[in-house]
Amino acid sequence: MDMKATGGELGWLTWPLDQGDKPGVSIVPPFYTYSVCNVAEREQDNWLRTTFIQRRPAASRVFVELQFIVRDCNSFDATSLTCKETFNLFTSESDADVGTTFRKGQFKKVATIAPDEITSKNELRINTETRVVENLSRKGFYLAFQDIGACVALLSLRVYYKTCPATVKSLASFPETVAGGENQALREVSGVCVENAVIEDLPRIYCTVDGEWVVPVGQCQCKPGYEDVKDTCQECKPGFFKAEAATDKCEPCPANTQRLDSGASSCPCMDGFYRAPTDPPTGPCSGFPSAPQDLIATTTQLSPGNLLLSWSPPEDTGGRSDITYSIECQRCEGTVCQPCGEKIRYEPASSGLTDTKVSVSELDAHLNYTFTVEAHSGVSVFASQAMPRANKPPSTSDDNLDVTTYTVLILEKNSVKINDLSPGTAYLFRVQALGSDGSPGGSSMEEQFETLLQGTEKNHITRASQMCCIFFYRKRNSHTRQGPEDTYFSSSEQLKPLKTYVDPHTYEDPNTAVMKFATEIHPSHITKQKVIGAGEFGEVYRGILKAPSRKEVAVAIKTLKPGYTEKQRQDFLSEASIMGQFSHQNIIRLEGVVTKFKHAMIVTEYMENGALDRYLRDHDGEFGSFQLVGMLRGIAAGMKYLSDMSYVHRDLAARNILVNNTLECKVSDFGLSRVLEDDPEGTYTTSGGKIPIRWTAPEAIAYRKFTSASDVWSFGIVMWEVMAFGERPYWDMSNHEVMKAINEAFRLPAPMDCPSAVYQLMLQCWLQDRSKRPRFGDIVSLLDKLLRSPESLKTIADFDPRVSIRLPSTSGSDGSPFRSVSEWLESIKMSQYSENFTCAGVVTMDQVLQMKNEDIKNIGVRLPGHLKRIAYSILGLKDQTSTLSVFAV
Ligand code: AMP
Repeated sequence: MDMKATGGELGWLTWPLDQGDKPGVSIVPPFYTYSVCNVAEREQDNWLRTTFIQRRPAASRVFVELQFIVRDCNSFDATSLTCKETFNLFTSESDADVGTTFRKGQFKKVATIAPDEITSKNELRINTETRVVENLSRKGFYLAFQDIGACVALLSLRVYYKTCPATVKSLASFPETVAGGENQALREVSGVCVENAVIEDLPRIYCTVDGEWVVPVGQCQCKPGYEDVKDTCQECKPGFFKAEAATDKCEPCPANTQRLDSGASSCPCMDGFYRAPTDPPTGPCSGFPSAPQDLIATTTQLSPGNLLLSWSPPEDTGGRSDITYSIECQRCEGTVCQPCGEKIRYEPASSGLTDTKVSVSELDAHLNYTFTVEAHSGVSVFASQAMPRANKPPSTSDDNLDVTTYTVLILEKNSVKINDLSPGTAYLFRVQALGSDGSPGGSSMEEQFETLLQGTEKNHITRASQMCCIFFYRKRNSHTRQGPEDTYFSSSEQLKPLKTYVDPHTYEDPNTAVMKFATEIHPSHITKQKVIGAGEFGEVYRGILKAPSRKEVAVAIKTLKPGYTEKQRQDFLSEASIMGQFSHQNIIRLEGVVTKFKHAMIVTEYMENGALDRYLRDHDGEFGSFQLVGMLRGIAAGMKYLSDMSYVHRDLAARNILVNNTLECKVSDFGLSRVLEDDPEGTYTTSGGKIPIRWTAPEAIAYRKFTSASDVWSFGIVMWEVMAFGERPYWDMSNHEVMKAINEAFRLPAPMDCPSAVYQLMLQCWLQDRSKRPRFGDIVSLLDKLLRSPESLKTIADFDPRVSIRLPSTSGSDGSPFRSVSEWLESIKMSQYSENFTCAGVVTMDQVLQMKNEDIKNIGVRLPGHLKRIAYSILGLKDQTSTLSVFAV
């Protein structure tokens, strides 16, 4: 509402009707203003009322921004007695426009407006002030300005409310939402999954009073065949697939599968390729193995009736590793073949062989045996359907068989005639001598002969040999499968079994570990911007990482200060070797390392809000339990991941959790030496190590039994820190007192406003018997359950203000233990309100003790957390004074 912009009157109502407040009565002519300047007259009460301002139903809190000028009273002569330099802002709600009816009594005062800069005779100073009008509920409202004798001009008035803009997060869209007011500081909004996404866990988010979205929870997932591309679900490209509704990307169709059109949720096998029943439906398909190769027979036993058959694996395994072999034996006379029968023994067996050898015994001399070795794999079950010929006897000479036949002749003469060979086929022959006792002797080279294509005449092939020889010949299989040279994914990789963390110390050279687990970054891709912290080894910077063909990312850069020893350098880099092994939403992500240059660096993702303890202290009382539990859920999920990988953190504490700009919490601080040296909370124990006593489980303090169960204890302490907005666990008790108290079964009391279920979980984490403590998996499930039904957070644990807000026992001899209001405020860390108390005339502790919750609010304590802290403290004080007076009696 700006007269200059409008170019004229705004039609506002002035009262009394004929006095003051006329447009254009300005201090400087070109300004259009509503102004009044009755500085020399007594008892001024001039009003200016806006037209009716319609209110959007959800906007219960509006901002009023004024531009105005106030003239210095000293610039008028002899008016100082009556001249004022402030005016008042009023509001009145109404369901309808009341026209020119104006009743002062219906207006509520919002604020007294005073200029920051006053306008003198020759210098014009424009002030801009913003005030908030809360708790609006009717269809609209008026604003009014009351002048009580100032020389003031109003230039413009802007009335607005804040909204959280429509947004898409976690594949859910959230509508534009009007920011709440003081009675509903955070508005919970449920999201709707974007097209082609399905609900995984109902997505929700909060809109803050400042119009910012915070603490998103829940998630939609792109349905099968679709993937997340910049907050939308796009069809998988042709040749790609996605089997489940999950956050994963579409993957290329695996080997030997058909490329389908876009949007595929699976890739069927190509013709002639199959998946074994135990293969994952998302894995590659495989063909049948080709024939085993290089089948040879040797004698091993002292009897001519024994043979060892051995061969090499097939050239083409069909892309599988589950190859087995079976042996078939035929006795052929002329063209008539028959199975060798039961008599022949195979060791270890005649089928299901995984080794490429078998020993055969109980063979009769003078008989012509033909052995067939067949390769099988997990997909061979399909072979009987797809290729029934495979089971036919080898004597049919079916070229499509994936078999190698091997014929053994045991002779007692030095020549042999071989009849009935197939035309156009290559045969390999080898001659081996046997001693008279059957012991194997030397053997000839393999010789290859080919039969003629027109096999009308019989081939007669003879080979001279020594006495008592074995004559072998082998038919080379003409059919070799031309399988594609594909990469083969073993099913174990497909299932992604949980890895186990590898301690970099297990590498003889720690540099190998760094190279294995961390990407090397060239220092020219890193820009340091600002120091944000101090690590054990050197400064921590905020900066930018711009790797070639990758987007710029904000990063934190840990540096190693000059003058380090090789040992220090290795300890420094060990954090990267550890961090590089992890990949989880709630674990700080390693971008890479610089090791090949003088200044070693560790580069991680940047967490805008820094360490959690600090962050919560700076935002004391600003989050509700739902948000706090949401943060704990994230930390617990990160810890579950670490414990699943068998990594024990040993220094879990809010100071080692980092927070990003969406309030996601991530576990950090993984150095090998960190618990020993790095943490300022570390205290030397008698056994020489350094331990952060307040966060550490008793068994870990007592006998260094650090396990995931001791991490769970620390997690309980982190829960307490979070619910208490970064309060120091056990306040100012000494480490010694803390240990003593824990041994005597004392546990931290519930923080103020802590949901009962959350406090119960803390107590479980602090069970003396570590086997009874919940696991991180249990903790994540429980926290999820609480978040899914936020009513479960409404039951608040009993809170004893005298313990939870650290009150000194007594310091004065009279009733109240505090000598002054400011001393008291300081003790409960609320000194920022000192002035509010003074201005409201509350200057003694007696007056404080009389205050009701309403009074605390009225003097300007707005944040619910602060209100409660002060109110509880007063309650506690009353309790203490009455106890004292009882003693006095
Ligand atoms: P640290 O040596 O890991 O304890 O880091 C020292 C301090 O640097 C921390 O307390 C944080 O304030 C800050 N810091 C470390 N890493 C990051 C990060 N990734 N993002 C933002 N601040 C960080």
